[in-house]
Amino acid sequence: MIDARKIEKLRKIVGKENVLESVEQMVAYSYDATNIWSHLPDVVVFPTKTEEISEILKFANENGIPVTPRGGGTNVSGGSIPIKGGIILCTTKMGRIIEISKTNLNATVEPGVVLQDFQEALAMEGLFFPPDPQSFAGCTMGGVIAENSGGPSCLKYGVAKQYVLGLEVVLADGRVMKLGGLTPKNRTGYELIMLFTGSEGTLGVISKITLRLLPAPRASKTIVAVFSDVAVAGETVTAIIASSVLPSKVEFLDSWTFEKLRGLLPDYVLDISQLVLLIQVDGLPQTVDAETQQILDICKQWAREVRVAADADEAEKYWQARGAHFSDIHSRAHTIVNEDVSVPRDKIADFIRLGRESAKRHDVPISFAGHVGDGNFHPAVLTDSRDKEHYQRALKCVDEIIDIALNLGGVLSGEHGIGLEKQRFLKKAMDPLAIETMKKIKDILDPNHILNPGKIWEESKE
Ligand SMILES: Cc1cc2nc3c(=O)[nH]c(=O)nc-3n(C[C@H](O)[C@H](O)[C@H](O)COP(=O)(O)OP(=O)(O)OC[C@H]3O[C@@H](n4cnc5c(N)ncnc54)[C@H](O)[C@@H]3O)c2cc1C
Repeated sequence: MIDARKIEKLRKIVGKENVLESVEQMVAYSYDATNIWSHLPDVVVFPTKTEEISEILKFANENGIPVTPRGGGTNVSGGSIPIKGGIILCTTKMGRIIEISKTNLNATVEPGVVLQDFQEALAMEGLFFPPDPQSFAGCTMGGVIAENSGGPSCLKYGVAKQYVLGLEVVLADGRVMKLGGLTPKNRTGYELIMLFTGSEGTLGVISKITLRLLPAPRASKTIVAVFSDVAVAGETVTAIIASSVLPSKVEFLDSWTFEKLRGLLPDYVLDISQLVLLIQVDGLPQTVDAETQQILDICKQWAREVRVAADADEAEKYWQARGAHFSDIHSRAHTIVNEDVSVPRDKIADFIRLGRESAKRHDVPISFAGHVGDGNFHPAVLTDSRDKEHYQRALKCVDEIIDIALNLGGVLSGEHGIGLEKQRFLKKAMDPLAIETMKKIKDILDPNHILNPGKIWEESKE
């Protein structure tokens, strides 16, 4: 517990209007988008500038108080849950877009800027920041960088780390470190920007971000392809990627999921037997037309039904249905165990088949959706943690799914990070020497382990 004197000190740093401490308010900051974990913080503070973050961290470090950085709280790995109590340092009052430069194709933002607001501001200038986690309406730029987020568009355009040119980071002892700059090229020293990108709030608090931008694509088309056989759909994805056309998005929904989302869809898609691929091509109009035709030709060889969305409205409906998947799934069971494995693209069909067999063996409902063009899946097992026997079966199925992905040459997390959710798998997913090196880096940057303690590494087994 943080005593009243310490909370008074925090009020002095950020102003009393920027400190929350009632139990009701603490409950609101005790969870994130996972529904398995929660823990109350002692206090929530909202800094409005870098100097305040610096003072908060200096004070916390001197007094051994845990600090959990938080943006929108939309992560799905338990990353912003204050599992050791202490301070939630929430950046949502640092929401300025400092600069958008068309000439330099870059932008500088504070960490609390909401991704959708940023994307809308860029669109007005004809610019584009591709990473598009489907939480875009609520997640912040600080969270996107701290999680190294991805999303559907990453197939063609890459994940957040490919766009970070510069960072300002407040270290655990309050010192402010500036990394990188405004230029797309910079080979000065070690790539420390990469170290902080994806560090899940465990190495420092990101207080300013400079991002590389692209000109917005001029045109796009959406293709919907329905398959009756998982393996065939997987092979179709492999064939599309190998065909020298690179779609901007290739997303996958299984029939279970699509059926549940049917109410959101236009009437055209009627025959949903096994699974659906949603494909988007973007670029110059004439290129988009030619590439759409090429993808149609490939899909027609194997799909039961293929359709190009007639206009932007129809396309938007499909993408909204895809975007609604996560919330929909969470409304269908008390507990969802949602994974984030990524497998090589030529193993997509094997992964789905083996995953389904595992769910059948353990007799648990499973939904497969994900960024299939990247081989990145979010298999979600529906269970109820209050029913111990069912929950244990669900966890066994999840364990098997992780093993299946790793055995196929895949990775534990494609884009959601480790947080609390995936700690128990880390040892089998990473080289022990890599884990040891990472822990040493943590010790150097945060020797008192005040920053997001309890995350990434399973402490009891250290
Ligand atoms: C419906 C839904 C769909 C999603 N879809 C995708 C998807 O398609 N692709 C994808 O990659 N992810 C997806 N996500 C997860 C995604 O990682 C997060 O939504 C997002 O990146 C987190 O941003 P946030 O502001 O909410 O951060 P939070 O959840 O608040 O924090 C996330 C982590 O970052 C740390 N952090 C936050 N701000 C800072 C900062 N300023 N400095 C240092 N550390 C900080 C926190 O401590 C925590 O560890 C989805 C989530 C949801 C709920």
